[in-house]
Amino acid sequence: FKRHEHTVEELVNGILAGNITMLSQAVTLVESQAPDHQEKAQQVIERCLPYSGKSVRIGISGVPGAGKSTSIDNFGCHILDTRGGKLAVLAIDPSSERSQGSILGDKTRMEKLTQREDAFIRPSPSAGSLGGVARKTRETIVLCEAAGFNTIFIETVGVGQSETACHSMVDFFLLLQVTGTGDELQGIKRGIMEMADGIAINKCDGDNVDRCHMAATNYRNALHFFPQPESGWTPQVLCYSGFYGNGVKEVWDMVFEYIDFVKNNGYFDYRRAKQARYWMYETIDEYLRRSFYQNPEIKALKQLAEDAVLTQKKTSFTAAHDLLDTYFNSLK
Ligand code: GDP
Repeated sequence: FKRHEHTVEELVNGILAGNITMLSQAVTLVESQAPDHQEKAQQVIERCLPYSGKSVRIGISGVPGAGKSTSIDNFGCHILDTRGGKLAVLAIDPSSERSQGSILGDKTRMEKLTQREDAFIRPSPSAGSLGGVARKTRETIVLCEAAGFNTIFIETVGVGQSETACHSMVDFFLLLQVTGTGDELQGIKRGIMEMADGIAINKCDGDNVDRCHMAATNYRNALHFFPQPESGWTPQVLCYSGFYGNGVKEVWDMVFEYIDFVKNNGYFDYRRAKQARYWMYETIDEYLRRSFYQNPEIKALKQLAEDAVLTQKKTSFTAAHDLLDTYFNSLK
């Protein structure tokens, strides 16, 4: 039994009709490494592009245990119940070793959303270079938007470069924080705080409430020392409980107030245009790198070059140039 492979035409029509099975199949093509799948995915994306862009894209970042999945489950239901529409939850997690088998595990992380027809949850493309994983997520955004999803969440683990990738594809970057150690501000990198359009302190419940409010004050004070963001919007700091739901409304009122604010002052379109430029160069970089490392001659010579550098027979500079010459000559 061979599964029927849908044509580009069928996939595009299915996506535009909001068919989730077709959407999932197209995302699988986007995520595939096989060149013929890649080719087909590009054709589908190309045809979906004119129908994309009409969503609000929100990045949600936080360290493991910050309560991302608990919060997203509640945030998602809140948005769907109060604003309607359809929500897609995507992720960027290049460290993820998740295989097909654990998608179920991933879905149970968001129990309420999983059961909703108006929500589409897709775990991070499995491990690969950050550039590769981020590109796939970005392409998946296009497909989801074409399928009528008007709110897109991009979840990312707050442990390094993936926030930057996430920030480069969203309209609002929400940083989830938790209290506990007492020196939260030291643990959080300045660069990440500077990216945040809003900070939400989670687990503001039980005997943790006072601590959360104190932390919020500290964050607000710290933000005073940051330059005024280009958007003209002053990032806000709010407390909430993703588990019990208190404060969730206020967090989302804030996010949508921001969206109105930047749509009015032109920053929304400006940021998207800048992101499009960024992604043009990212795509070129990734394509060149892939083309280089998949080149048969490079594949054959790479190990030798590495050995020559390790045994100091060649400098890294010479070895790199020899390989690059080989690559460019092979293209002639
Ligand atoms: P993630 O790793 O960032 O996705 O975090 P999870 O959503 O899996 O949450 C990590 C732990 O924190 C779980 O045990 C949750 O039950 C707990 N948790 C999440 N949100 C809250 C909250 O609002 N209040 C409290 N008290 N616990 C929470």
